[in-house]
Amino acid sequence: MSFSTPLLVVITVLVILLIVITVRSPQAPGRTAFGLAAVASLWWTAMVVLRLNSDDLTDKIMFSRLAWFGIMATPLFWSAALLDHAGFSQVTKRLPITIMFIVSALAGLGALTDGYHHGLYTGIINEERPSFTYGWLFYTLLLVAYLCMMLACAMSISQLKRAARLHRNQMIALLIATCVPWACNAAFVLFGFRLFNDDPTPFAFGATVLSVLFAQHRGKLFTAPPIARGIIFSVLPDPIVVLAPSGLVLEMNPAAEKLTGFSNETVGTTLPPFHPLMGLVAADGGPGTKKPIVHFAAMGKIFEVSVQPLERWGRQGSIMFVLRDVTEREAAQQSLSDTGKALKLRLEENLRLQEKLERQAFEDHLTGLFNRRHASSTMPPVLASAREDAPVSLIIVDLDYFKQVNDRHGHDVGDKVLQAFARILSDSLQAGEIAFRYGGEEFLIVLPGAGRNQALERCSLWRQELAALTIVELKDDQLSFSAGIAFAPEAGASLTECTKAADIALYRAKISGRNTDVVWGEHLGGMSRDGSTDNRNAVERRTHRAWV
Ligand code: GH3
Ligand code: MG
Ligand code: MG
Repeated sequence: MSFSTPLLVVITVLVILLIVITVRSPQAPGRTAFGLAAVASLWWTAMVVLRLNSDDLTDKIMFSRLAWFGIMATPLFWSAALLDHAGFSQVTKRLPITIMFIVSALAGLGALTDGYHHGLYTGIINEERPSFTYGWLFYTLLLVAYLCMMLACAMSISQLKRAARLHRNQMIALLIATCVPWACNAAFVLFGFRLFNDDPTPFAFGATVLSVLFAQHRGKLFTAPPIARGIIFSVLPDPIVVLAPSGLVLEMNPAAEKLTGFSNETVGTTLPPFHPLMGLVAADGGPGTKKPIVHFAAMGKIFEVSVQPLERWGRQGSIMFVLRDVTEREAAQQSLSDTGKALKLRLEENLRLQEKLERQAFEDHLTGLFNRRHASSTMPPVLASAREDAPVSLIIVDLDYFKQVNDRHGHDVGDKVLQAFARILSDSLQAGEIAFRYGGEEFLIVLPGAGRNQALERCSLWRQELAALTIVELKDDQLSFSAGIAFAPEAGASLTECTKAADIALYRAKISGRNTDVVWGEHLGGMSRDGSTDNRNAVERRTHRAWV
């Protein structure tokens, strides 16, 4: 017995091992076809072993013929496996696989019936092995097998550049596994090359099996196959649409069909010019470009679109759109912005109210002058800063017989008088001077830096303006006021001391007939500091027409 039989038995065992590994591996591109190719080569090798160990020529010829089921099936399924692994998964769909089975079966049947038609073998050259001369069927089958192998290798090589390193290594291992037996077969058929005085192809399966086992062991052939691309495209929840520059839809994934209202029939049609995506065909999708938002009005959905030009992939002008449904995000943003605007308005309103409240806290609402509370909070430091050579005048003005104004003409007219007099005061104020409504018809005026004469002059001015006031409802009634004047620091440094002094002077002005101004301190002879009168000093009187 020659060396061939034990070698082929080893190869058979290796092929069986490969089949076991393939069957136990997870589903991967090419796995089924690899398994079928391995079974076919196992059959081929087994027939060669049986032929080698048979003495009878009839048996030898029978095994040679039976081997054709495997001889044809091996390259067909192997080519399918290579193509499937390279991403051309259509070849492992049911129809192509069925065709491969039929072609393999026909080749086997053709070999079994060769005695009738001699399409395969035309004669025996060597009865020992045996070896034959070949007919048309042989060369036809050979051509089919070689063409399939060539196509598979070419397609696989075309994918090498784009594949990830691991997958590229897998492809290279598979190409080596393909080419070794193929080269041996070509050498045998074309040049009569023999190994152990026989067809070297079955022996070369050893190298194939080893290469595939290596690819599986080191290159994770079935464990980490190049499956992601197709899967990603079909399972990605984001719609993807590929458009040619004309708007022709080249490709779309199931998510696009579902979400954007497109249908599978849209592929191959041209989008109308008003379609939302058409506006983006000319858009620059460079890095950092803000992703445009597209409204699909018919569906009431909003998508954010990534625009990816496909120049790098050899599709000049074509664009891949990756859409992301941002309807909810946009709605949330809109509601956030609405809430923000409402909050801003509310805040502005609150600020206005707060300002109003603050103003009301120190403003008299009838006259618009500051109120008494404001005097208490702002005047102490002003009075405290007064010096002998820079006094602060503090004047309390009280309208004369004001109750009678109300009684005769009504409270509204009284209000008008108070407002008009407040305006006289505020119009006359100079920088640093300040007027307060101190009580019902009493006003407090503080004139920093004003001495006695200036204070009296100002009172005289106000009196003239009050007398000249024209309020029709008053008819001929004349208005006047009495004023008490005190100075800080002479009367004291606190507001209480100064207003008390001015009050005393005012009281004096009232009792001396009204419509007059009294300066505190100048009547002390006729009046004690607490306001009680004596007759020693006369009170200074200025204009003297009482309002009655
Ligand atoms: P005298 O010359 O002594 O000051 O006499 P008078 O009538 O002015 O003094 P009296 O204190 O008796 O009256 C003050 C009046 O001022 C009483 C009140 O009805 C009136 N009055 C106080 N506040 C207001 C107000 O806001 N509007 C109006 N219309 N009248 C007011
Ligand atoms: Mg009064
Ligand atoms: Mg009064």
